[in-house]
Amino acid sequence: MSNSDFAPRNISVDEPLDEPSDRAVLTLADVGKSFGSERVLDHLSFAVREGEILTLLGPSGCGKTTTLRLIAGLARPNDGTIRLNDTVVAGNGAFLEPEERGIGVVFQEFALFPHLTAAENIAFGLKDMPNAEREQRVEELLRLVGLTDHQESTPDQLSGGQQQRVALARSLAPEPEILLLDEPFSNLDVDLRVEMREEVRRIIKEAGVTAISVTHDQEEAFSISDRVAVMNDGKLEQIGSPEQVFQHPESRFVAGFLGHASFLSGTVSGDSVETGIGTIPREQIHGLVTEYDETEIDVLVRPDDLVARPASEAQAGGHVVYRRYLGPTVLYRVELESGDVLECMHNHDARVSLGMPVTVSLAADHDLAWFPPDSRWRVDTQADD
Ligand code: ATP
Repeated sequence: MSNSDFAPRNISVDEPLDEPSDRAVLTLADVGKSFGSERVLDHLSFAVREGEILTLLGPSGCGKTTTLRLIAGLARPNDGTIRLNDTVVAGNGAFLEPEERGIGVVFQEFALFPHLTAAENIAFGLKDMPNAEREQRVEELLRLVGLTDHQESTPDQLSGGQQQRVALARSLAPEPEILLLDEPFSNLDVDLRVEMREEVRRIIKEAGVTAISVTHDQEEAFSISDRVAVMNDGKLEQIGSPEQVFQHPESRFVAGFLGHASFLSGTVSGDSVETGIGTIPREQIHGLVTEYDETEIDVLVRPDDLVARPASEAQAGGHVVYRRYLGPTVLYRVELESGDVLECMHNHDARVSLGMPVTVSLAADHDLAWFPPDSRWRVDTQADD
């Protein structure tokens, strides 16, 4: 069944936020954007809460950067509205220029002025401030980003991580309502990325600013965000905390995009679900509704939920059809007699080889998500649509 057979889940902007005290700083309602005949964003609706870090996460070309550009005022939506606090900044015939929105942007390549020092770069957006106040603000920001000792350095005298700190401080200097970060770690090498994720989150939280970041890297999104908005093909698939979207994906796309996902077919039978790797207690299947009794379902299993053990041909439930050594771990793909193909992740010393007959068992004791076999959406999501 094609993806277009199902309506995407869009979060109603009138839906109350989880906590009554949560205030939406930014609201997108039914936003659409086309370039020529290409529909790039479609009915995109979500709200960003005061003080949170929200990350737009999705594959290349799904419309993340376009969404960020619409929020910044660098492009205009064709449909819908964008509201910043109580002001409609785009839509309904209104359009506020980027400089009037009070939005800070940290660009991928940092875009620092090469001839200015770190302190001068940070002071750049504070021209209207009295001198003493400006100096004090720059000093505070240098301290916040840990660059007090480098204030006289020009960008070419700073490392990639230090340049990112200056870029962040410069965007925070005018105290924006919202900070936008476009693929903030893509210009850093791998080791530095991990360190800077922690730092960028700390700095944003200490500054108390609301932030929206964009990435296609799920680990990055999980590590810096309070909530993640997963996008696919110009639509919002799901928005929630990293734990919610990973453990309870609302669509198969979300399940697969956020990590290795295998779908284990099973038949619901009383208090159990019978599968090709044995019986799973019904209570372990999250929110399994009675409507699916005595029918087939697909249970979502992640590689670390499963263990494959060598077995005799007579006892084996399947064979290893793929093996990838990853250093600390080994990823196996096992084809079961039922035809299901499951991925299992083992410690690096595991001695299971390609072609070997194995039994697979469930090692996880947490709740497992499930999907009706012919649907890409979870059942309670379909009910919401
Ligand atoms: P990536 O992760 O690769 O940056 P993305 O999710 O940020 O991707 P966008 O850059 O928003 O995706 O692009 C979404 C779609 O819109 C793509 O198909 C892209 O080619 C198209 N697009 C973006 N900007 C323009 C433009 N100015 N003119 C025409 N098409 C555009």
